[in-house]
Formats: sequence, structure tokens, C-alpha cells
Amino acid sequence: MRLSADVVIVGSGPGGAVMAKELSEIAGLSIILVDAGPYVLERYYQQLELKMTELFWERGNRVTDDLSTQILQARCVGGGTVVYTGTAHKVPDFVLNDWAGRWRVEGFTRGDLDAGYERVASNMFITEHTEEDWNDNNRLFVEACTGNNIGVENLKRFVDKCIGCGFCYQGCKYRRKVTMLNTYLPKAFANGVQLISNFHVNEVLYDPKTKRASGVKGVVKPTPPLAERNSVPEGSLEINARLVVMAAGAINTPSILLRSKSLPDLGAALGRFVLMQNAHNVHILMPYKVSMIRGIPKAASTKEFLDSHRFVIAPAQNHPIATANDVTGFGLNWKHLMRYFHNLLQWQVICGDDPHFTNYVYLDSTGKTNVRYLYSPDYIERQIAGLRTCARLAFSIGAERVFLGPTKNGYVTNRNMNALDHHIHRKYFSPGRFSLTTAHPQGGCRMGGNPKHSIVNSNGRAHRINGLIVSDASIFPSPTHVNPVYTILAATTLIALRTKEDIDKLLE
Ligand SMILES: Cc1cc2nc3c(=O)[nH]c(=O)nc-3n(C[C@H](O)[C@H](O)[C@H](O)COP(=O)(O)OP(=O)(O)OC[C@H]3O[C@@H](n4cnc5c(N)ncnc54)[C@H](O)[C@@H]3O)c2cc1C
Repeated sequence: MRLSADVVIVGSGPGGAVMAKELSEIAGLSIILVDAGPYVLERYYQQLELKMTELFWERGNRVTDDLSTQILQARCVGGGTVVYTGTAHKVPDFVLNDWAGRWRVEGFTRGDLDAGYERVASNMFITEHTEEDWNDNNRLFVEACTGNNIGVENLKRFVDKCIGCGFCYQGCKYRRKVTMLNTYLPKAFANGVQLISNFHVNEVLYDPKTKRASGVKGVVKPTPPLAERNSVPEGSLEINARLVVMAAGAINTPSILLRSKSLPDLGAALGRFVLMQNAHNVHILMPYKVSMIRGIPKAASTKEFLDSHRFVIAPAQNHPIATANDVTGFGLNWKHLMRYFHNLLQWQVICGDDPHFTNYVYLDSTGKTNVRYLYSPDYIERQIAGLRTCARLAFSIGAERVFLGPTKNGYVTNRNMNALDHHIHRKYFSPGRFSLTTAHPQGGCRMGGNPKHSIVNSNGRAHRINGLIVSDASIFPSPTHVNPVYTILAATTLIALRTKEDIDKLLE
């Protein structure tokens, strides 16, 4: 089957949905928005942890090629916002200074981004949590921080009257989460954007005569039972378009571009400088039952170490399967621990790595997307510092044991509390020894002023060919160091508005 439109947008997460809604305000512009995942509305969500892994890429099992890091990304219409907790952080100044200084990104000053954040806030809804929203996990976190003279702040989230059901990662059945499904996408559809779900784009097409990206090609897969019907039949599909917007996310956008054999060379940086920003899950065994999976997942956090060590600590919320996946251990010991699931608190150390050319997305001999990643020594030091801080905080409120990875056995007990620097150590930080998870991958198709080090310019436009724009987390040249979604929304808003301004020229 063959379709055509002025613009095709690949991916309906924050980057793609923002672009679809903003461009749909241009009268007469035809837009097709496609996504590899199903269109699963709130009424289909089941609060079943295993079942709802269907909303994730590779059912949540995508990993780096050394198996060290699990990469969580959504595979459904609405992208990551369907499964996120919705924490809304603005990017710190030191990140923007790095983008402008080291990577020559223009037009992303604090003032520019603030205008983007403001426009996003006017399309979404942000709640600032207060003390009334704390479950045990949040309350004990705040108690630990204040008891150790560490400042905490109330968290802001993209939610409206969250009831604290605890099923954010499975999709919010109660429509309290503010996502692309209930904000940007309905506005885009009302303006005439056509959605094609279950369409796995394999490659971007190129027209050598016009020397432009000219569309996308792939396969429409069957619609799963609990999802909206598709607007096209199953089978091969080619969409011809005058402008191709890639918004398939940090790993998938570079992977599709690498797979696009008809495209000319987009630059040596394609797929390179991938960034792991890990949410390192720390599980804390308390001597009594606590509420971790019920209640508001994240209501407070500390950014006290952001400037000095570039990590943030916040409470989080894992269900049993994710917890079992995170906690190091085997056999009876591990089974014994899982019996105490209801005594566990969960906090996260969120820490981003520096960009390195040697960290990259590639296609293996079977054509499968893979990621090669080696953590930098600087990252490991900062991550270790975050984990030691977390353990100290946990023991100060009476924790018995803290499961956090880089130790001899994967955990430290309260008997080790006076020698944490010895027990939590970089010598234990090696692939496969413990589980690392990122839900915030970035980079791989980075923006910048120098085509040697970047793929797109500060307007998201490919340096080397016309008709190709990238609008997702893959454009970030260095990590946000805080949860990224608000910044992805704001940055892609700027790109969308600049695209809108130049639309006639871009379609020529
Ligand atoms: C479990 C979880 C919790 C999170 N919680 C938070 C949080 O609380 N706060 C925060 O700031 N961030 C959070 N994030 C991160 C945030 O959701 C992502 O950073 C953000 O969604 C990335 O936006 P994006 O547009 O770059 O890509 P995505 O949201 O990943 O969207 C990309 C879309 O492209 C589609 N796609 C991919 N490949 C193809 C293809 N070949 N063909 C067609 N379509 C394709 C995908 O199906 C997907 O819908 C969380 C992420 C996860 C997974």
C-alpha cells in the first residue's frame, strides 16, 4: 500500500505528538503520524504488571549488548508518557551551558527553553505535591533527608488529582495522568492528523533527484485485541512525504536512520554519543511493613547533589516483577527477600553519563538494534557517591539492609553502616554484577553546530540532507541529569515552532 502526505511523523511520544499538534495548526497541511505500537486507550489498561509489559519495547527487555543495562522505552501510541510517573523537572543551567559551550547548540538558552516549558504547561497540567501526598516511601525519604540536613523539595508531576493507585508504569486507568493521549494527540487528531498505529517503520526513503528525504517504508502489524482499530490494513506500507520528522526516541531514531540504506551519509556521529541516564533503583528493607506500591509514587526529591555530583535522589515505586529484576541475588536468599516485599522502600539515584563517541547504537548481523555502552569512570564515581548517600540515609531511619548493586553481595546491612565507602565501591561496578535500568536514554542523533559531532542543527534539521527533521530525546548532546520529559516536550516545542515558521521553505 502507498500513501502520501505533506509531512510524515514517525513516533507519537512527546517529540512526535508535540510536532503533530503544532504543525496541525497550519491550514491545509496534511500530516500522517505513525507509531510502531498499538493505540491503547485508558479503558483497555489492566492493572497487571506482566500483561502491561506489552506497552514496552521488547516487553521491557531491551538491554545493552553486555547485558549490563536494561533500557525501558514505551512501544505504544503516546510513547513514554503512557507509562511514565510524570515527574516534571526543568533542565539545570549547567546542562544548557554545556550544550551551548561545548556542542555549539544555538537557540536553547534558559529564556528560549522557558518559553517552551510555558507553552507545554499551557497544553498539559502540572500538580505540585505536598506533605499530604506522602506515602510511607515518601515520608521516610523526607524524614531521612531532613534528619541529615539534606534539603528536599516537593515534586511536580504531570497529573491531575492523582489517586495514588500505584499503577503508573502500567498506564493510568483513571485518566489522572496527563499524557500525550489526553492532551496533544486529541488536539492533533481534531485538526485532521491521521494516525497509523502498529506501523513499524524500517527505513527513511530518499529521492536522489531532489536530494531530499522523501518518506518512510515499513510494515503494518496486526492490531492486538485490546487496542483501537487501525486506519489502514496490515501489510507493507510506503508513505511518501515532503518532510520526514523522526520522533521514534533515543535508540530507535538512530537505529531507523542507520537502517536507511538509500540515505546519503548523515555524519559520523549517527548512532554515537548515546547517553545512559540511569535511575539506579535502591531497595531498602525495613523492620516493619511499609507502603511502597500504593500511594503517590514520587512526591519529593533532593537536588542537593545536582551541582556537585550531578545526581538526584527520589522515592520511586516498583511492582514485584520489577523489584525481583532489580534486586541482586539467587535461589533461596532471593526468594526469602521477595517474601518481605511489603517491607521494602524504593528510592532512586538518577545520574547521567557524559557523552562519548564510543557509546553507540548499531545493527547486528541479523539487523537487530543493539547498544554498546561503557560507563565512564567519572559516571561510576558519581553513581557510587549517590548510592553511598542513599544507604546512609536509609540506615539513619532504621533500615536493616539496603540492596543497591555495586557491593560484594549486592547489598549492605546495618552492620556495614560505618564502612559504606569500603563496601560500596567502584571495584564492584562491573557488567552483569547487578542490574542497571535506564528509562531516560538520550542522544544518538545529537544536535549541534559542528556536523562532525552532530547530525542535526539546533532546529532539528539534518545537516547533510533536506527534508529530514529529528524531534525527540535523541537530539540531546549531553544528558539532562534530571528526569527528561518536560525538557523533551519544551525542546521539541521550540523545534516545532521553528519548523512551523519555515514550513514553506522546508517543503520546497
Ligand atoms: C517506565 C518509564 C517511566 C518514566 N518516567 C518518567 C518521569 O516520571 N519523568 C520523566 O521526565 N521522564 C520519564 N520517563 C522518560 C520519558 O517518558 C521519555 O524520556 C520520553 O517519553 C521520551 O520521549 P521521546 O519522544 O523521545 O520518545 P518516546 O516517548 O520513546 O516515543 C517514541 C515513539 O516512537 C515509536 N517508535 C519507535 N520505533 C518506531 C518505529 N520503528 N516505527 C514507528 N514508531 C516507532 C515508539 O513506539 C514510541 O511511541 C519514563 C520512561 C519510562 C519508560
